[in-house]
Amino acid sequence: MRKIRLRLLSYVVMLYMLMASGWWSYLLFSKNQMAFEAQSSMMVLQLGAEERANGKESPRYIDLLEKRAALEAKNERQEWMILGETMVFIGILFAGLYLIDRGYRKEVEATRQRRNFLLSISHELKSPIASIKLILQTFLKRNLSPEQINKFSSGALKETERLEKLVTDLLLSAKLEEAFEPHLEDLDLLELTNSLITDLRLKYPTAHFSCEQNGTQFNIEADISGITSVLLNLLENAIKYCKTAPFIQVFLEEKEEYIELKIADNGMGIPEREKKQVFEKFYRVGNEDTRSTKGTGLGLYIVNKIIQAHRGTISIEDNVPEGTRFKIQLPIKVK
Ligand code: ADP
Repeated sequence: MRKIRLRLLSYVVMLYMLMASGWWSYLLFSKNQMAFEAQSSMMVLQLGAEERANGKESPRYIDLLEKRAALEAKNERQEWMILGETMVFIGILFAGLYLIDRGYRKEVEATRQRRNFLLSISHELKSPIASIKLILQTFLKRNLSPEQINKFSSGALKETERLEKLVTDLLLSAKLEEAFEPHLEDLDLLELTNSLITDLRLKYPTAHFSCEQNGTQFNIEADISGITSVLLNLLENAIKYCKTAPFIQVFLEEKEEYIELKIADNGMGIPEREKKQVFEKFYRVGNEDTRSTKGTGLGLYIVNKIIQAHRGTISIEDNVPEGTRFKIQLPIKVK
């Protein structure tokens, strides 16, 4: 509320300055005109008197004519100067207005992201802790069969893994903010993709995966754990942001100096204006109060940073007929 009031106040001040500058310019312009007209009519009188006394050829008459021409030129210059300075002033005012507006929008967006982050992080921290606590309390209070112990333990393990991923992502994103130096090794991108898909098929039995390739050689120079994290983030997002049965298509293509990797899904898609913002730290599409999917908005930030560290590119396109397609280009050799 305070920020809105400040913004309104700045608009009022700007408007006042705009009107004041318009008014003062007009005043200056008309005073200049009046002064010119007074001087000019004086000269006309002098010219008339000189013409009557000594004729048009007299040196004084010619001198007066020259002075009149100089006066007109000076008047024109002054008019342009007033106009130019008014325009510069108005230009500076509008630039200020634009900067205030941009700053305000950035502030609003940062506040929204901070709030979203706090809500999502507290949810992501609280819910696994609550589940693990409940499981441990059940272990203490009840005599459970070995099957039940097994079931509860694997539930607790999943929640612990979720917590671990959250902490790892937080630490990794903090590390990526500084210069991240990838530890480069030989990596077969096709082999890695296929092995991750095999693991994910077991973890998400309802998801359907397909992996196709065009080319024969998919070896690149890369940080293996970094690229694994990129692929896992993108593949798990493809599953997470899908309301129906997920159908994920991975396509690898060998190009001259790089490998192109596309991951397409049949999920809810990403609105055009948010395709760039999703790579920002903590950015999540929509509002934390109404969203049902879990997450922190760190995944794509990490993905983008890792790809950048490999001098690669990542972009988002709409998949046809629905969903999202991530396109990554990774150079074969990181120079
Ligand atoms: P998180 O999944 O933890 O929210 P990410 O950084 O991985 O964070 O993703 C940021 C946002 O981008 C997500 O909240 C989601 O709104 C959107 N998003 C990411 N991947 C997809 C996808 N495959 N389909 C639709 N939306 C996606």
